[in-house]
Amino acid sequence: MRIPFNKPYMTGKELEYISQAHAYGHLSGNGPFTKKCHLWLEERIGCKKALLTHSCTAALEMAAILADIQPGDEVIMPSYTFVSTANAFVLRGGVPVFIDIRIDTLNIDETKIEEAITSKTKAIVPVHYAGVACEMDTIGAIAARHGLLVIEDAAQGMMSAYKDRPLGSIGHLGAYSFHETKGIISGEGGALLINDSHFNELAEVIWEKGTNRSKFFRGEVDKYTWQHIGSSYLPGELISAFLWAQLEEADTLTLRRLEVWENYHKQFESMEKAGVLKRPVVPDECRHNAHMYYIILPDLKTRTYVLDNLNDRGIKAIFHYIPLHSSPAGKKYGRVHGNLNVTLSLSDRIVRLPLWVGMEHEKVTEVVSAVSHALSV
Ligand SMILES: *Cc1c(COP(=O)(O)O)cnc(C)c1O
Repeated sequence: MRIPFNKPYMTGKELEYISQAHAYGHLSGNGPFTKKCHLWLEERIGCKKALLTHSCTAALEMAAILADIQPGDEVIMPSYTFVSTANAFVLRGGVPVFIDIRIDTLNIDETKIEEAITSKTKAIVPVHYAGVACEMDTIGAIAARHGLLVIEDAAQGMMSAYKDRPLGSIGHLGAYSFHETKGIISGEGGALLINDSHFNELAEVIWEKGTNRSKFFRGEVDKYTWQHIGSSYLPGELISAFLWAQLEEADTLTLRRLEVWENYHKQFESMEKAGVLKRPVVPDECRHNAHMYYIILPDLKTRTYVLDNLNDRGIKAIFHYIPLHSSPAGKKYGRVHGNLNVTLSLSDRIVRLPLWVGMEHEKVTEVVSAVSHALSV
């Protein structure tokens, strides 16, 4: 492809830090670089505790264990999301309850949450789509009224904010992804953010295979043993060293993504005015991170035509998600509440466009022209 969908950006310090970790000789998890990353996240995000994981998927699985999800417990989430949002809870026997999304932000429709709550509901999982925040005040108030946990799937939300509060710091728990398709990367990687400190101790146990090894290393106990269910959720030091190079540049990387996003947004303005497509909506209370740029086309036929056209010109544009409620596993393990008309309609009409740090102005212009040409406007 002449214009790929994504180009992972490297700051230039990654290998230097990896070689420092190598020289230091601590290669397993929870070494000096992991601790630096934890501290950075705790200070920047303002969470009570951060734990690096080997993926956001892993962080969501930890959250499901912390939430003490038991067979039959229900978890309310959008159907329009990545598989891991639901799978993490299904692994514990939980039942994802899929509800519809908002037509403007493609985030969970907060006005449909309360009617989906039953005596089995344990948690609400808002997914901050494209790094634009869900309506967290409303979601928090509903959760408080019904005694539910809020677990933010902030895989796409690092460096974004809702009313000046960093995403991932608002619910009881939050999960980040550092997958190479996200804004801050370590290849595969993630973090669990704990905002309710009563989870701190158990989270460390779950992270370290269900043992109190972290306490042992701090000299707080004289031997460590199996305490709870858990797994090996921590990344090795080489990954943490790589991530450290990215965290140091997190502000710059985000600003540079935003430049590309703004460029697309400006160039698509006239096509939106002409009524041939819709651009992303960012509510006033949200500061976003330019995780992705997408457009919404009138129907599936137009979407297929535009995608084929762009790909023929060497421009890698894609779509997602197959709504989870219509997937084989979603049908088997989840249930739907209400109609999912917005989900079904938007998932047929969305096109995600190439975006990476340092994407040249001319390339953005070329993508916009190709879309304009395909739509014959
Ligand atoms: C990327 C993503 C995940 C999974 O992240 P990994 O780090 O690849 O496990 C989960 N949820 C959402 C919404 C995502 O975009």
